[in-house]
Amino acid sequence: MQSMQQYMDEAESVLLHTYNRYPIVFDHGEGVYLYDLNGKKYLDFVAGIAVFALGYGNREYNDALKDQVDKLLHTSNYFYNVPAILAAKRLLKASGMDRVFFTNSGAEAVEGAIKTARKYGFLRDGRTDHEIIAMNHSFHGRTMGALSVTGNAHYRDPFEPGIGNIRFADFNDLTSVQAQVNKNTIAILLETVQGEGGLTPATPEFLMGIRELCDRKDILLILDEIQCGMGRTGYPFAWQKYDVKPDVMTTAKALGCGVPIGAFLMTEKVAQSSLVAGDHGTTYGGNPFACRAADKVLEIFERDDIPGHVREVAPYLEKRLGELVSAFDCIKERRGAGLMQGLVFDRPVAPVINKALESGLVLINAGPNILRFVPPLIIEKAHVDEMMEILEGAVREAAEQ
Ligand SMILES: *Cc1c(COP(=O)(O)O)cnc(C)c1O
Repeated sequence: MQSMQQYMDEAESVLLHTYNRYPIVFDHGEGVYLYDLNGKKYLDFVAGIAVFALGYGNREYNDALKDQVDKLLHTSNYFYNVPAILAAKRLLKASGMDRVFFTNSGAEAVEGAIKTARKYGFLRDGRTDHEIIAMNHSFHGRTMGALSVTGNAHYRDPFEPGIGNIRFADFNDLTSVQAQVNKNTIAILLETVQGEGGLTPATPEFLMGIRELCDRKDILLILDEIQCGMGRTGYPFAWQKYDVKPDVMTTAKALGCGVPIGAFLMTEKVAQSSLVAGDHGTTYGGNPFACRAADKVLEIFERDDIPGHVREVAPYLEKRLGELVSAFDCIKERRGAGLMQGLVFDRPVAPVINKALESGLVLINAGPNILRFVPPLIIEKAHVDEMMEILEGAVREAAEQ
């Protein structure tokens, strides 16, 4: 067998270098642990970036996928398939939305939401100069449309011009949003909890203020729940904690727990006044295999009350992370909601991540100075303790340097 180093060298010679990867080749996973090619064990507090909510090697989930592999993988959207219907019913029940379109990724779900908003505006007044307001420090994906609404110039600048007619406002600052609204505004798009931008939950006043603004001006509220949805904050979708409901919503990441699938959802009112046959499509989206995965994930979430489990474990994680904030001057604050947490440092966190990896703990950052915690949703308090022990050592070593 080749060594990890040989594989890494090979990877760097064939894969386009769009990532600076950590020097590990993972081989398999079990529960909340990952194993590299040398058999070294790692506690995983990343879950493939908020994807593997059920952990690795869930027997029931794996069996459902194997069963579907032998049955049917793909049919195209010119025909009906049963897993898509079952997954749609469960997703609508969990979200309270009325209609769903399945995609292959989060970015594609955002594209669909943008097209929905533009068509809604077009049908309303026949114009094509509508504007969407998005947030600074947001992240919505890497395709041209999703990139155009991502509030991070570093990601956008080399690829300008974007799709156009996008304005940016400040997250959790209602006045700054109001200042961008005009007669052309057709949608306001935001993450209920900003992920890449720094694990910042929307304040209730902000989200309720935006909802009220949207209602008053016939503007669509689009919530991106790709990272913060699917139980991560202790609710099936993060907005359910607030007294608001979006008109359009996106999901992905944990929806397939490892199988690529996303979705955009909408209310019946929006569905009746936006996309119709011929307006949007996808070859793979909503195929039987990906939908079987989502159906099984949603079934387990509902039956085992995964959001309830998150509400039980998350306060403990918050408490333990809070202790670290008190103990180390280099950590400024803890932010986040549920099992989507961040520790804000006064310096880059890369050394902490590298130390943690050496000691068998997988963590990632959100921006240079924030350590991000998005573990599988099935973690127990004992895993939090195990994580804290390694993390404390890693922070101590990094702080001394
Ligand atoms: C990850 C993410 C996306 C993009 O999803 P992809 O599947 O990587 O295209 C969009 N929005 C948010 C909030 C995300 O966290």
